Amino acid sequence: MTGRLIVAEFPASEARVVFDLDKGYLSFLDRRRLATVDYTPELRLALGPEPLGDLSWLPEALKGSRRPIKLWLLDQKNIAGIGNIYAAEILFTAGIDPRRPANSLSPEEIQRLQSAIGEVLEKAIAHRGTTFSDYRDPSGNPGGFQDLLRVYRRAGEACPRCGAVIDRIEMGGRGTYFCPRCQR
Ligand SMILES: [Zn+2]
Repeated sequence: MTGRLIVAEFPASEARVVFDLDKGYLSFLDRRRLATVDYTPELRLALGPEPLGDLSWLPEALKGSRRPIKLWLLDQKNIAGIGNIYAAEILFTAGIDPRRPANSLSPEEIQRLQSAIGEVLEKAIAHRGTTFSDYRDPSGNPGGFQDLLRVYRRAGEACPRCGAVIDRIEMGGRGTYFCPRCQR
């Protein structure tokens, strides 16, 4: 959740873990010493498919689950790489209530969800991630996506789409932000 990854020609002196790359080094810095690094050769088996790229498998996968769609998206075994912030923004973009059971989504809503996943993640990558405390991208720059967040951490503010007040609830122990009017 915190810490920094830096790609450079040399390993960073205060790095806790250094990966020797084909070109240069990937150093992991963690001043607060809260992070753990896991290595598993079976990682690929434990993670679901990449969210950027072909999502034609999505309708079939959602059919098999009654879990709320937000928790389904956060489960890395279903789809890899969607965190709490992006799940909120994806469901807002798609106009889907985070509490809806995954298998209750209509084909049209799944279509909107597929587009929203691509749209939100590509925008986040283009703005180099989201910075709240000490996150830096691998070149050491703070992320710029937090200014573009439309519901995450905006409880009490007006929905940028319909003007209703953005709500915050807990789901799976995580803050969940959504518009109660235009996310159905
Ligand atoms: Zn709204």
